[in-house]
Amino acid sequence: MTLPKYFSGSSKTDPKPVHHSATALLSALLSVAEHDIIPKMRQGVADGNQAFAAAVLSQGDLAPVTVSVNKAVESPLLHGETSCIRDFFADPDHPPSRECIFLSTHEPCSLCLSGITWTGFQVVYFMFTYEDSRDLFGVGRDIDILEEVFRVKAPGDDEESLKGRALYNKKNRFFAAKSMWELLDEVEGEEERKKWRTEVDRVRELYREFMISTP
Ligand SMILES: [Zn+2]
Repeated sequence: MTLPKYFSGSSKTDPKPVHHSATALLSALLSVAEHDIIPKMRQGVADGNQAFAAAVLSQGDLAPVTVSVNKAVESPLLHGETSCIRDFFADPDHPPSRECIFLSTHEPCSLCLSGITWTGFQVVYFMFTYEDSRDLFGVGRDIDILEEVFRVKAPGDDEESLKGRALYNKKNRFFAAKSMWELLDEVEGEEERKKWRTEVDRVRELYREFMISTP
């Protein structure tokens, strides 16, 4: 992927993409979601912050590099993702963002999609979709903002066709974003897929303690 010069994550020579199987990715992402994010998020929520978090993993060995939680008490702009981006770049030894994987507990909002874009992360995964955030966590702002601020009628569009349009480009020149369900679809073999679906369900269920409690 060649990106424009103004883009902070660009480089003259992009690294060779590291290929991991869908199961290796799921295993790493779910482990970070369970063992690294949840304890921090529990503390963050106890401190009055919202139940959202993000992590950066090294693309090479899939180990967590940065794990951060929402810090809305400090600033309403510090969502899980923007908080994580700030912490990632605060470490002078951080690896290049283009060599990392970005994990969001919840599908990134418009602010965080922009933050991810501007900071050069090219691979994004998330555990709960916008619809999950609305239905399970009582948070419908992501969809509202994208629809109200960013969605523009094209010539010939009516309300129906406008509603049917995707809210953003999940795969674009800057990044590719996938839900864990989409990643599950890439697992080969029905039995294996079933096994991993149970695992995704189990870890998602661990987030139940934060559901509907988000202000
Ligand atoms: Zn956000």
